Amino acid sequence: MTATILVIEDEPQMRRALSAGLRANGFAVELAASGEEGLDRLALVRPDVVLLDLTLPGIDGLEVVTRVREWSLVPIIVLSARESERDKVIALDRGADDYLTKPFGMPELLARIRVALRHVAQTDGAEPVFVDGDLRVDFAHRIVTLGNAEVHLTPTEYELLRQLVVNAGKVMTHHMLLERVWGPASVDDTQYLRTYVNQLRRKLSLDPSQPSRIVTEPGIGYRYRRSTV
Ligand code: CA
Repeated sequence: MTATILVIEDEPQMRRALSAGLRANGFAVELAASGEEGLDRLALVRPDVVLLDLTLPGIDGLEVVTRVREWSLVPIIVLSARESERDKVIALDRGADDYLTKPFGMPELLARIRVALRHVAQTDGAEPVFVDGDLRVDFAHRIVTLGNAEVHLTPTEYELLRQLVVNAGKVMTHHMLLERVWGPASVDDTQYLRTYVNQLRRKLSLDPSQPSRIVTEPGIGYRYRRSTV
């Protein structure tokens, strides 16, 4: 089945390039040149993924994220200029799933779209066990194993890991992780979060020379990157 991508982008050149690239890779494409038009198209065509430019005339991208999330869980990948770092984080906190900084290449975009589509499939039929290479997280029994050895995690470390692997491939903002693991009163304790992430990395890395599967997104948050595809 062909997945439909809704592109909300006001620059005609960018819109054309995205549309051509996506169609060439087998996607159906719907285009919108403003936030208003994007919201209308979304309600009408029910796309599988939304690509959303943040700087739009009229209703801007951030407002679009807010309005979409009032009724839809469609994956949103934000396309932002390097100057709008701050807006990117706000968009993620409001429920966008991922971001790409312009300029980006088509292979990178396709990879992010695949992650978004896979994530939808995962959350549709929640799996009781997460497996990535030698790492196994048994959600039903709260048991984490690396190879044949059980990894002993504190309840907080486990919850942090669970949030990351359930959202594998997706960037999780500091704010999101702090709120979900420690509660709304802790949303500004990014240093605290960093400490826990480092503890978790230590406990999970068999081979210290290998790059961590918990990737730092500077200034934004963390992302669990699968070691296997
Ligand atoms: Ca724009």
